[in-house]
Amino acid sequence: MHGTIETREATSSFQIVRLESSQRILFMSGLAIITEACISVKDRACVDVCPVQCIYEFDSTNNVLYSEEKAGSGIIENSHTPNAEAIAIFGDSVLYVNLDECTSCTACYQPDVCPVGAIYSEEHVPDGTSRSKYNSDDPNKGHDHTFFVQHSRDVFAN
Ligand code: SF4
Ligand code: SF4
Repeated sequence: MHGTIETREATSSFQIVRLESSQRILFMSGLAIITEACISVKDRACVDVCPVQCIYEFDSTNNVLYSEEKAGSGIIENSHTPNAEAIAIFGDSVLYVNLDECTSCTACYQPDVCPVGAIYSEEHVPDGTSRSKYNSDDPNKGHDHTFFVQHSRDVFAN
């Protein structure tokens, strides 16, 4: 049998996944996922609290994802090429966290940051079931938001 059995041990910011083959994969928990309530709100409050400028906007004119040193400053900190298919879904109507750069610091998904409760840690993104715990300001309670977990990864081509 080749099925994979996983056991997980949580530490403060990492999880160790043990696979049947004795492989060990270390990945960070607490990555920030921006979900549907951000669409067309985009007030950049999360950008202001992110210490590593890993929250990106899409510039459709230049076809680039960029983050600013400070929200609205016009000073570009980082840039990436978008995946054409993925960026076409929401375009510049939403912000995107680069999960390779997010440090899981938790700042952007504190309750007093996003006015519409759009940001969740990856492991707490609501899946639409009755077990899901939604942010109190999220207007989309009851929806399955898990699409945004993969989409956050898909949208960055490099
Ligand atoms: S704080 Fe919330 S609504 Fe504002 S840009 Fe960030 S995710 Fe979007
Ligand atoms: S968790 Fe921290 S590092 Fe990650 S996007 Fe939010 S503020 Fe930035």
